[in-house]
Amino acid sequence: MNISSNFQSIRKNVPQHIDIIAVSKNQTYKKIQSVYELGHKIFGENRIKELVGKYNHLPKDIEWHMIGHLQTNKVKKIASFVSLIHSLDSLKLMEEINKRAQQNDRTINCLLQIHIGKEESKFGFSINNIENIIEESMQYQNIKITGLMGMATFTDKQEQIQSEFRSLKKSFEKIKGINENFSVLSMGMSGDYKIAIQEGSTMVRIGSSIFGKRN
Ligand SMILES: *Cc1c(COP(=O)(O)O)cnc(C)c1O
Repeated sequence: MNISSNFQSIRKNVPQHIDIIAVSKNQTYKKIQSVYELGHKIFGENRIKELVGKYNHLPKDIEWHMIGHLQTNKVKKIASFVSLIHSLDSLKLMEEINKRAQQNDRTINCLLQIHIGKEESKFGFSINNIENIIEESMQYQNIKITGLMGMATFTDKQEQIQSEFRSLKKSFEKIKGINENFSVLSMGMSGDYKIAIQEGSTMVRIGSSIFGKRN
């Protein structure tokens, strides 16, 4: 189990134009540092307390991505530094992110989390609502919707995963055609990133295949 070689072999196999988010939730500063020292600067977290602690302790040129469900009352803790929020999943959250971004005199880039899997997830917009949600976002000056994020069903059925990613890609392309801010399609994790890449992902979020199994 060697984190550096895991990362390097994944980086070598993922096409250069696709961003890798090293998902470092539950991982120590030391382990994150070992990937950072290879020249990698993008890490993803899903808990605010952990994210803030890591931001404070680790090098300031790391780009921190929030990939997990975000409660509105926590937005203020990350608004000054977060570089991309993958999990924008409600209009209330959109309003709050805009407000906190404004207070920090910046624009926060966000992806709309879209519910594509079969699981009864509470989070994510319906794929049929994307255009309306983007329309809503136009009233906000300090938030920029740069793309979509989705998680496929946790299953062994490759065709199912493929068809879920494919439908997200289709919506992404449709909006990209009319919206110049649209450039990011965040799909694919350790178990399914190869399928996601085949289906047109531009950003994969990989944790356990880099750092090993989480505790
Ligand atoms: C944990 C997590 C990942 C990474 O999962 P792995 O299977 O460890 O690669 C990706 N995306 C989200 C939203 C996550 O919460």
